[in-house]
Amino acid sequence: MVTVDELFAIDSLLGDEERAIRDTVRAFANERLRPHVADWFEAGTFPARELAPELGKLGLLGMHLEGYGCAGTSATAYGLACLELEAVDSGVRSMVSVQGSLAMTAIHKYGSEEQKQHWLPEMAAGRAIGCFGLTEPDFGSNPGGMRTRARRDGDDWILDGAKMWITNGSVADVAIVWAQSREGERDVIRGFVVPTDTPGFSAREMKHKLSLRASITAELSLDGVRLPADAQLPQARGLAAPLGCLSEARFGIIFGALGAARDCLSAAIDYARTREVFDKPLAAYQLTQAKLADMALELGKGQLLAVHLGRMKDRHAISNEQISAGKLNSTREALEIARQCRTILGANGITLEYPVLRHANNLESVLTYEGTAEVHQLVLGEALTGSKAFR
Ligand code: FAD
Repeated sequence: MVTVDELFAIDSLLGDEERAIRDTVRAFANERLRPHVADWFEAGTFPARELAPELGKLGLLGMHLEGYGCAGTSATAYGLACLELEAVDSGVRSMVSVQGSLAMTAIHKYGSEEQKQHWLPEMAAGRAIGCFGLTEPDFGSNPGGMRTRARRDGDDWILDGAKMWITNGSVADVAIVWAQSREGERDVIRGFVVPTDTPGFSAREMKHKLSLRASITAELSLDGVRLPADAQLPQARGLAAPLGCLSEARFGIIFGALGAARDCLSAAIDYARTREVFDKPLAAYQLTQAKLADMALELGKGQLLAVHLGRMKDRHAISNEQISAGKLNSTREALEIARQCRTILGANGITLEYPVLRHANNLESVLTYEGTAEVHQLVLGEALTGSKAFR
């Protein structure tokens, strides 16, 4: 028997260091996270505080960033780490993505030297947790319409508004908050580094999710939050700034979602080999094998595309459209694989004893955040036709 990785000779595309990182993350994920993840999911909780220092020790927080205590690995190695974490649960990968690709990247790309020195080493070590507040109750796919405002009061900034669906929000020490600020005749989106103990800032955990239950999601309220002048990210101007961070997180999802798919497929193959129906193993039926073969093809092709895009990112030669193509393909196919695997497990597939429906439910969020599937179709549609169809 071969695995999908073997079938597509994925290892032959990776360097020694990349394989070593992947194996280390896989071992950590299987030993430290996998035994608990179904309980976290059922309880609707995630021990972010406890795990962050362990993830930091492994170099997984802000892993692909240079300096300030970050590991500075290749983008491909970061992707492989995302894949291994998401093979356990999309919630774990979400925590790491938001910390490294969103909150830390915002500071790394757009922050002042003081902001970088102050926050990045603490965040890389997992002693400080970050969140990224872009989405609002009325503005998700079109964040440019956001209502959160930043106004000057002397040298200070005052922030007012609300953010919704914010991963890590209620456990964060620092929030990157995006707000409209009046500059001359027009509004410009600016980013702010907000310590979460600032008066006027509050976060309320959102409960009753049916997806990404092993992940903390919160609403943020900003009620006259007074910040010093140097809380603004000096290099962040306009919507391109938060979108620049989202590209980083989307890149991680190209690999990550395939981890969830791999875990589902492996559970389905194990199950099909031992479950007997009509006096022989389910795996020995042609219909089952057709399903498994089709899923293996999509998973293998997805991984080849992910490594290809990883190599392009490592050469700084990747476009936003290419990242959209990868994010759309990986999330859509992973969700399809998770659902198909669920059919193979029959009724057992709906329980938490097996990972497949947990992954499928998680992937519904992964399909929606970091740009919905439809938004990425529109990005590709525009690239292919030259016509914008967003509005
Ligand atoms: P909407 O934008 O209202 O979209 C609804 C539907 O309309 C979708 O199907 C969409 O594709 C479709 N649609 C939108 N525009 C068009 C169009 N022009 N043409 C055709 N169809 C369109 N946000 C953060 O800022 N930080 C976070 O940490 C974060 N974490 C999240 C965690 C979870 C678990 C979830 C579920 C979301 C998170 N988000 C976060 C928010 C996420 O980014 C948004 O949910 C996403 O951008 C979609 O926005 P929306 O939910 O408002 O949907």
